[in-house]
Amino acid sequence: MYNIKLGWEIILKELACPKATQDLELNTKNRDAAVKAEHIQYGPLNLEDEDYWERYAKRWNTTADVAKQSNCSNCIAFDISPRMDKCMPLTTDEDGRLGYCWMHHFKCHSARTCYTWAKGGPIDDDKTSKENQMRGEQ
Ligand code: SF4
Repeated sequence: MYNIKLGWEIILKELACPKATQDLELNTKNRDAAVKAEHIQYGPLNLEDEDYWERYAKRWNTTADVAKQSNCSNCIAFDISPRMDKCMPLTTDEDGRLGYCWMHHFKCHSARTCYTWAKGGPIDDDKTSKENQMRGEQ
């Protein structure tokens, strides 16, 4: 059964921004690791890189056009909650926006993706954002 007291405790809890949103070196290290790792392959660097989308589509046995629709913007790990917005250096560009990736711990872009994409996002409320952070700190 849902614990109401615990729910309020999470809503009222003050949490610092995730380290990587404030530390450029750490963010870059985590992002580069996600780009390089065989099982993650964060990208593409250039959104028009069709080779990348073809490779990504192959993983899911689908076409590049369909695969492009499963990106950070709708991934379960993509955090664009109001509290996370305050941790971000900039929020939008012509292709999308930045959010925090709770799976790989860096500021990722909504129009990119990775091999560990999972349905169910984005995270757009502070309570779920805090729950993700607290889970990681346990
Ligand atoms: S938000 Fe999802 S798709 Fe984007 S890098 Fe993180 S795990 Fe991968």
